Amino acid sequence: MEKLQNYINGQWVDSHADHFVNVLNPATQEVLALVPYGNEKDVEDAADAASKGFLEWRSTPVSKRVQYLFKLKTLLEDNLDDIAKTIVLESGKTFLEAKAEMIRAIENVENACGTPSLIQGEFSEDIAKGIDEYMIRQPLGVCACIAPFNFPGMITFWFLPYALACGNSYIIKPSEKVPLTMTKIVGLMHQLDLPKGVLNLVQGAREVVDAILEHQDIKGVSFVGSSNVARYVYSKGSAYGKRIQAQGGAKNPVIVLPDADIDMTSQIVIDSVYGCAGQRCLAASTIITVGEHKEITESLVESVKGRKTGFGLDGDVQMGPVITPESKNRVQSLINQGVSEGGRLLVDGRNPDVGGYEQGNFIGPTIIEDIPLDGELATTEIFGPVLSLVHINTIDEAIQFINSGRYGNMACIFTSSGLNARKFRHEAEAGNIGINIGVAAPVAQFPFSGWKDSFYGDLHGQGKHAIEFFTQTKVVIERWLKEWNRKF
Ligand code: NAD
Repeated sequence: MEKLQNYINGQWVDSHADHFVNVLNPATQEVLALVPYGNEKDVEDAADAASKGFLEWRSTPVSKRVQYLFKLKTLLEDNLDDIAKTIVLESGKTFLEAKAEMIRAIENVENACGTPSLIQGEFSEDIAKGIDEYMIRQPLGVCACIAPFNFPGMITFWFLPYALACGNSYIIKPSEKVPLTMTKIVGLMHQLDLPKGVLNLVQGAREVVDAILEHQDIKGVSFVGSSNVARYVYSKGSAYGKRIQAQGGAKNPVIVLPDADIDMTSQIVIDSVYGCAGQRCLAASTIITVGEHKEITESLVESVKGRKTGFGLDGDVQMGPVITPESKNRVQSLINQGVSEGGRLLVDGRNPDVGGYEQGNFIGPTIIEDIPLDGELATTEIFGPVLSLVHINTIDEAIQFINSGRYGNMACIFTSSGLNARKFRHEAEAGNIGINIGVAAPVAQFPFSGWKDSFYGDLHGQGKHAIEFFTQTKVVIERWLKEWNRKF
């Protein structure tokens, strides 16, 4: 069985880890590889290499740095199917979902190719007589990304291309549950022939995260994962003087007003709830109907019927398994809890029969109605294929319910009223808003936003926020007097 390695200083090296853990295919439990749970020595080696690499990289002109990204785009496109297959094997997504995530990753590479313009500074002539003032952006130094399991390829690309284009060197720490995808991508990036130490990858889990947060040469950390760990990373990293952006968990509500187009709404909502088996930070989770709800309820139940669950490389499969057996147990316990709180199961996906994949962590699409608004199911991030349906009388009460929640990643509304949509956009406390959209995922030019417990920090991933995150501003005030030129 292959033992995964670290990529440090331009080459693959063994980890200092003393224990390795199986990387499993969630549809079959087949062991795909062994991932080392690295330690501080691995981070030390990577940070040393990255510190040295930074010196050469920061003085490489930005127009030259982005040439590597143009090549990276082609490399990712040429290997799209192969990368997507790896994503399916280790994360359980369908092949189409895996390809879609890599297309989002490539969009970020393309956007970061605009860094020569995005990184430009500002200049004011004559802030006082004969004195000019200007601001330039310079890289931070060594930066690192700590990624979650649910987008093994895409999430690192919310940060990596911008970090490199801005002149930083980089350390990637993939999720230990899905380390194969970024290992494959870094293997491809080896062909780019970046200066040594500019790109590094360290395999591992908590010990590696702590070592990254504590290392004095690592200046910026981008984290994506669950809220409790995001808060931990933000607090600890900040205490160690680092710049941190930490995206956390989510519980995304969707309001359906009585004037929404029923067929379109239920189709979009179903895709949002069950895409990636509900393991998306932008998955719709609680569907809030306002007023009349019989028709939309029936339509949602009807749309779920016949949705095929199975192994993501089998052609007609629409939904894969959840990531681990523990995750499956957790999600099914939450469904049980919803029932014990008084919820009614309209569609029960517990322990589905998925022929040929009896060992897989499958849960079928589930719809549960009338759960209490302050109950466990209505307030906890489920991260599985469960649609909770609640009925509320007015849009004001619905918005109030949304704003009472802990998270603020995404909130959506379906309506044909521009006035109500505008009210919702103005009042809903969430960083990403969808209006007749089920997955309000910002494209690469916009920040991947997030409020409340869904984000700790100031600057988000993607777009101009990423350029700001990966640079520090230097302001120069400059005076040249005539008399100093006497000699010439
Ligand atoms: P996770 O928090 O368990 O793990 C994320 C990363 O943190 C991993 O690399 C892991 O090794 C590390 N980690 C885990 N526990 C740690 C600890 N105690 N101390 C230090 N490091 C630790 O998250 P996950 O289960 O991999 O991913 C799912 C979560 O990520 C969900 O909550 C989802 O909503 C969230 N997510 C959020 C966004 C967003 O943009 N807001 C995007 C994707 C996923």
